[in-house]
Amino acid sequence: MACWNPNIEMMSKEDLDILQLKLLKELVDRAYDRSPLYRERMDEKGVKPDDIMTLDDLSKLPFMSKKDLRDYQPERLFMAGKRDIIRYHASSGTTGKPTIVGYTKKDIETWSESLARALTSAGLGADDIVQVANTYGLFTGGLGFHYAAEKIGAAVVPASTGNTDRQLQMINDLGVTVMAATPSYMIYVGEVAEKMGIDLRKSTLKTGLLGGEPWSDKMRERIQSQFGVRGINCFGASELYGPSWTECDEQCGIHIWRDIAIFEIIDPKTGDKASPGERGELVITMLQKEAFPIIRYRMGDITVMDEEKCACGRSHPRMMRISGRVDDMLIIRGINVFPSQVEHCLHTNPEVGNEFQIVVDRKGALDDMLVKVELKPEAFTDNILELNALRERITSRLKNSLNVGAKVELVPTGSLPRFEGKARRVMDRRDI
Ligand SMILES: [Zn+2]
Repeated sequence: MACWNPNIEMMSKEDLDILQLKLLKELVDRAYDRSPLYRERMDEKGVKPDDIMTLDDLSKLPFMSKKDLRDYQPERLFMAGKRDIIRYHASSGTTGKPTIVGYTKKDIETWSESLARALTSAGLGADDIVQVANTYGLFTGGLGFHYAAEKIGAAVVPASTGNTDRQLQMINDLGVTVMAATPSYMIYVGEVAEKMGIDLRKSTLKTGLLGGEPWSDKMRERIQSQFGVRGINCFGASELYGPSWTECDEQCGIHIWRDIAIFEIIDPKTGDKASPGERGELVITMLQKEAFPIIRYRMGDITVMDEEKCACGRSHPRMMRISGRVDDMLIIRGINVFPSQVEHCLHTNPEVGNEFQIVVDRKGALDDMLVKVELKPEAFTDNILELNALRERITSRLKNSLNVGAKVELVPTGSLPRFEGKARRVMDRRDI
């Protein structure tokens, strides 16, 4: 399999440890010297750059939040002066005020390098024609894919979003092989093609670089089987470099280059490091950043890391699918429970329909969780014995998956409340 930078990508775990520690120390020195905000945070915590002697010492450093990036930029946050910044982007915050992000020349190079490795690992190269259907502009998606695709020698079609008829025309006229887009736009393109009588499976388009919004393996299966487009999961954010990581050809998690970033998983409640293989909040440290520091930056996303060597031969860790946001987390008898975990577990049972509801109550001092599950019409039966057996099976699967017991109630299709927009699946009655 092709490799963009074999020296780094195929480096042994031990050598990567050494390289990563060197880069971490340099980063902390740089931030302490040049970012007034981060120096203040370190001083408050009583930690000095010299305290970072091993990779585990990372946990001594203070966290950063999205609020830090929004409130203190650029004067107190940035490590580089205006003269060294060569590009600005901005992300639209949900609170209204955009977060400005800046990049030095080297930041742009590191970003392209990271994504060039990723695209090569996904099997792309100079023979490809990449149509970038992400937004170009203050949002980083468009230019991110653009630079990396050019770097690996692929041809770029900077289509940006919208005008789907024209997107399809160009796929046909130019022989486009790759489309970078959000997964939902990829599906939309496929649906428009079907309406126009175009069978994408017979087109030159073979790969979708998909990200920028939460999506599931179910959506991937649909994109792959219905449109014949291999869906490669991508990750990044404008305050990191975004997009900058993707899955390799094995499609089993997103490779995170250890010389570029450290992805930690923490318990969002205590801030402590999660056990290996445990789901928790993603915390990111960007090792080579020059313009502004991203050190122990709390993303608010819930995921899990796989540290095992990948079948492709790379020993860099892989991030699994993001399964939710910290804000959605419930604490049941001291155990963190995510509605997405419940959903995932329920869908391993073929009898279960699309709707469910979690009701949390407090009986005496104990939390009590009830999961109401809609069955598919053909699965619901009057046979109490059969229904009880199914309920017991789902109850025990939930207990194994969540590490905390829940009562399960099976209900017929259509009996749970439907909500406009995002499903409100949790009813927490403990505060009432
Ligand atoms: Zn791999």
